[in-house]
Amino acid sequence: MRVDSDLTATRARLAVLGVDAEVPLSRSKGAGPSDDGHFTIDGRNAAVPRNPASPFVVRDGRVLERGTDRLHDTGLRLEPVRRPRFYDLTTADGIPYRKIALLHGKDVLATTVVQTCIRYAAEERCRFCAIEESLRTGATIAAKTPAQLAEVAAAAVRLDGVRQMVLTTGTTAGPDRGARNLLRCVRAVLEAVPDLPIQVQIEPPAELGVLAELRAAGATSIGIHVESLDEEVRRRWMPGKGSVPMADYEAAWDEAVRVFGRNRVSTYLLIGMGEDPAELIAGAERLIRRGVYPFVVPMRPMVGTLAHADGARGAPAEVVHRVTTAVARLLLQAGMTGAEQGAGCAACGACSVLSAAGA
Ligand code: SF4
Repeated sequence: MRVDSDLTATRARLAVLGVDAEVPLSRSKGAGPSDDGHFTIDGRNAAVPRNPASPFVVRDGRVLERGTDRLHDTGLRLEPVRRPRFYDLTTADGIPYRKIALLHGKDVLATTVVQTCIRYAAEERCRFCAIEESLRTGATIAAKTPAQLAEVAAAAVRLDGVRQMVLTTGTTAGPDRGARNLLRCVRAVLEAVPDLPIQVQIEPPAELGVLAELRAAGATSIGIHVESLDEEVRRRWMPGKGSVPMADYEAAWDEAVRVFGRNRVSTYLLIGMGEDPAELIAGAERLIRRGVYPFVVPMRPMVGTLAHADGARGAPAEVVHRVTTAVARLLLQAGMTGAEQGAGCAACGACSVLSAAGA
């Protein structure tokens, strides 16, 4: 596949600087590193910050860049994702479906099954995460039941053409880190929608046997997200989660690759927490050799996070572009693409620039 480096560079700038555009669908606060509007760019899912001060604007579906005296056509086409029909529905017990799961990109149903985290005290919390803020604002409910998820998934597939589902969870106190609850959710969703590809996302569980159970239950892929391979960054940005030994991640990744298969396992690596870009790329290469897809994502401090409160800034677009193109090249050399994950963030691709770079 031929990749236009200029377009990838523009896509990286869009990911960092955002776009000045109306958007019917966005997510605010919640788990993970992004707080963005949902679009497609050249047909691919794209989560891009909404920013009235951005140099990028949209006219007739084309992304234009404000210059000193005129608008310059970047060559990218951007479409907002429309509000899905399942957002208008409510469960029999009166809970709006959109409090149970959200549409990400044009065709991904995503939910945080348990919206609380044992690591959410300020001195423990990941500085880029706002998992409990959406709960505080009433945008979601604390725990979604398997039956609720099955009901919403069936509607989202039927009414809005959803093609895959992401089940993530705040970390729970048990040694399984929430995996057994995810197991029940996977079973319930697949009973309602038998062919729906599902990705589960968890911290490394104490008993690795649960990974095989998740696979046997029908999960297509798994994300075990370390966020950074740099021990100093882990301690500073993730005081709680960073205390999980890297050896536990490595054991969980290896077992996950054994049971889910090569390139059915992924991990987030965030760009912009003070790590050395060359070391990040070298770490991504080691993950690829393990069969794990390194989903490199620009960290953009969202409202509600400690990073935002501290005035932290994400990585410059030039660094996002450099890291993304290098990791994309390594992935392509290894014959790995996000689409082949089948389900999950790497298959969705919206929060990263990797898919624009061909991976
Ligand atoms: S990459 Fe993951 S978090 Fe980002 S929009 Fe897609 S499914 Fe959601």
